Amino acid sequence: MSTLLARTRLSNPSPFLRRFLSSSPPISPLPPLPNPVDRNVQWIFLGCPGVGKGTYATRLSSLLSVPHIATGDLVRDELSSSGTLADQLREIVNRGELVSDEIIFSLLSKRLAAGKAKGESGFILDGFPRTINQAEILKGVADIDLVVNLKLREDVLLEKCLGRRICSQCGKNYNVASINVKGQNGRPGMSMAPLLPPQHCMSKLITRADDTEEVVKERLRIYYEKSQPVEEYYRSQGKLMEFCLPGGIPESWPKLLEALKLDDYEEKQLAAA
Ligand SMILES: [Zn+2]
Repeated sequence: MSTLLARTRLSNPSPFLRRFLSSSPPISPLPPLPNPVDRNVQWIFLGCPGVGKGTYATRLSSLLSVPHIATGDLVRDELSSSGTLADQLREIVNRGELVSDEIIFSLLSKRLAAGKAKGESGFILDGFPRTINQAEILKGVADIDLVVNLKLREDVLLEKCLGRRICSQCGKNYNVASINVKGQNGRPGMSMAPLLPPQHCMSKLITRADDTEEVVKERLRIYYEKSQPVEEYYRSQGKLMEFCLPGGIPESWPKLLEALKLDDYEEKQLAAA
């Protein structure tokens, strides 16, 4: 490890990179990481609506001590602040228009710069980039190491999307779908527990008007069509890791950590402390 450190002139590698430096070469679908530099991970999470990418991205960011940056949150945060960009954004939202790539990118750049000023050196991006154009712009401000593409079998995904409920009072999201697919023809079964609300929200659950089977299917079709070029963009750079979720969080989380070579990350962190 000391020779590696000397060769790459790492003064203070992040715990994550330190782990990689001391481990044997990855043998799983994990793409080769770029030359280690003195910073934390810069990852992207891709996945269709309903796959649970926010959940896994949040968990990983707390494990790796990097911020989870979701573009939806950036928009909401900006809307609640003041300034030229906020005014511009309010106007667009009030007119019911889509927020452009340029504005999303301004918000992201602002967030990354603010993070850098606070000493942040990594992130997990969620919901960005959506287009090759955005990916190209992103290349100018970040050095993406890895793109995790989360996948879920279509029938389960559809059922999950249709199980989405929102509390009409507190606005929190829940999922009433209880997935229990039996294994068939060599295909493993899958079960996923519902995400039920606390008692006080239970009677106030509503289904979004656009969560009908027809609309969900169309949303997924559009997602696949639009996401393909972005996936291909990162695949051709050897940065894309496809991960098929084997079930709910209890089954998927350990497998995801394994695929990312992070399965003993917490133990190593504790041992190093
Ligand atoms: Zn509620």
